[in-house]
Amino acid sequence: MVIKATNIKKHFGELEVLKDISLEITEGEVVCIIGPSGSGKSTLLRCLNRLEEIQAGTINILGNDLVKNKKIDKIRENIGMVFQHFNLFPHLTVTENMILAPVELKKMSKADAKVKAEELLDQVGLLDKKDVYPDTLSGGQKQRVAIARALEMNPKIMLFDEPTSALDPEMVGEVLKVMKDLASKGMTMVIVTHEMGFARDVADRVIFMDQGYILEDDTPENIFTNPTSDRCKEFLNKVI
Ligand code: ADP
Ligand code: MG
Repeated sequence: MVIKATNIKKHFGELEVLKDISLEITEGEVVCIIGPSGSGKSTLLRCLNRLEEIQAGTINILGNDLVKNKKIDKIRENIGMVFQHFNLFPHLTVTENMILAPVELKKMSKADAKVKAEELLDQVGLLDKKDVYPDTLSGGQKQRVAIARALEMNPKIMLFDEPTSALDPEMVGEVLKVMKDLASKGMTMVIVTHEMGFARDVADRVIFMDQGYILEDDTPENIFTNPTSDRCKEFLNKVI
């Protein structure tokens, strides 16, 4: 099991955000998380790399207890994260953005990191942008750089939190294509998304969250054609 969360609970003060969440994700699986705004999707994702602490339950990542383990940085190296807002450093070029973490955290040589950055930029179709600053890029290009930057650390798991939600519609496709390529190469991926077509097409499993609970966890086929909960039916009727 690559990710195993058991009965996790998370609250912010009085507000219970994750109420009793259990999930298992195996190597190479692509899991999309869908659900209404405020249902706890981002919080769940953030708990999986300990950007948020949990108050109950356990999380095991690649055989390591995420909560007990002191070497959180070592575990995090295996987990790439891509956010809605790309979080690129504006004062660094594309290549400088990409090599920062491997050089600083993994003590990779700059030369090796640059070679790898070029390979990855080529993979996401942006090799010609390697020396430009982020503000010269479109939103779709920025997000493709953000994905390449996460991959530069050689992660075993990639977490995506609404990676296309901040993009103009014409740029959504190019980012989804990069994600689909990654999925076909066997990357383990957890993707919070509102792109139902993508979820249906690429996910091995779809999880529907509502009010801090997982209400459905099933194949895309079953979720989209035959959801069992009324809440999921209602949600899908609104978004599809
Ligand atoms: P989603 O990603 O499904 O829209 P979130 O996980 O962002 O949902 O949020 C779930 C709930 O937790 C919301 O009610 C949100 O306001 C609340 N929340 C999220 N982060 C924090 C925080 N840092 N402090 C307090 N409340 C938060
Ligand atoms: Mg969110």
